[in-house]
Amino acid sequence: MPGPERGATPSYDATIADRVDLTDTIAAFRIRPDGPVMPFTPGQYVTIGRVGADGRLVQRPYSVASSARRTEAGYELFIRLVRAGALTPLLFATKVGDRVTLKRPKGRFTLRPDDQRTHIFIATGCGLAPFLSMLRTLDDDAAPRKVIVLHGVSYADELGYRSELERWATDPRWGLRYVPTVSRPREPRNAGWTGRTGRAETVLGPLLDELRLPPAESVAYICGNPEMTVTAEEILRGHGFDAGSIHKELYWPLGSGRSSGAA
Ligand SMILES: Cc1cc2nc3c(=O)[nH]c(=O)nc-3n(C[C@H](O)[C@H](O)[C@H](O)COP(=O)(O)OP(=O)(O)OC[C@H]3O[C@@H](n4cnc5c(N)ncnc54)[C@H](O)[C@@H]3O)c2cc1C
Repeated sequence: MPGPERGATPSYDATIADRVDLTDTIAAFRIRPDGPVMPFTPGQYVTIGRVGADGRLVQRPYSVASSARRTEAGYELFIRLVRAGALTPLLFATKVGDRVTLKRPKGRFTLRPDDQRTHIFIATGCGLAPFLSMLRTLDDDAAPRKVIVLHGVSYADELGYRSELERWATDPRWGLRYVPTVSRPREPRNAGWTGRTGRAETVLGPLLDELRLPPAESVAYICGNPEMTVTAEEILRGHGFDAGSIHKELYWPLGSGRSSGAA
């Protein structure tokens, strides 16, 4: 992960074109480059940078959440504020029109073309972002696949893009099953939540038992909190998935952060 670059003289080359706050600590940002929007494959990330009070440029990667077929408006990103972090406090202090650095899309955590196996997408928090890009792109291509989306959050109000996912889940053209789960059901902020409870990795095993997905006809993508990612992979292996049918994106290094379900 890139650290602050001492003495860098950055020239901002992109603008925050839109910002929608979901909670105090989760927001969707749309970043528009000064030049053309580089094409990307669903699942890839871009790198955003902003100069801090000490004059250093801080850069971090963020998965693109928008459709790969709708690049004209820029890249949509779904970001959690890490209060003790280096970049996100700078980003959350921005407003529409502020400037950032932007590096081109990269990454191998991508949707394979023409893969007709059942896809199971497992995300914590903002780890939903690459899956949104995949789903939105498939939707724009009128090529829906059979997909299960397991999204784990601490609080129900962190279930970003819930209405979009619920709409796909009720659309007969899609074979989409949306499985949101909250890990802190007893907290007042979750009052009224009647859905599944527990961390994504706790829900995954029973969900696989319930779905009875044939491993040879299924592929899993896991994204977000690194501890969840490792545990989810173990559960999938225990249910017969081989290593080649499991794709992972860890949002920060294993063992370096909080072990909460947040991402
Ligand atoms: C390929 C890739 C794509 C990513 N996409 C996204 C994305 O779409 N949305 C997003 O919000 N983040 C995403 N991240 C994480 C992002 O790059 C930053 O690490 C994160 O925003 C924190 O940056 P920071 O500079 O504020 O904190 P840092 O100073 O980098 O982090 C401080 C410490 O906080 C912990 N930490 C980092 N992120 C989190 C978190 N979300 N929750 C709890 N603890 C954390 C880590 O232990 C880290 O060492 C992605 C990471 C990678 C590698």
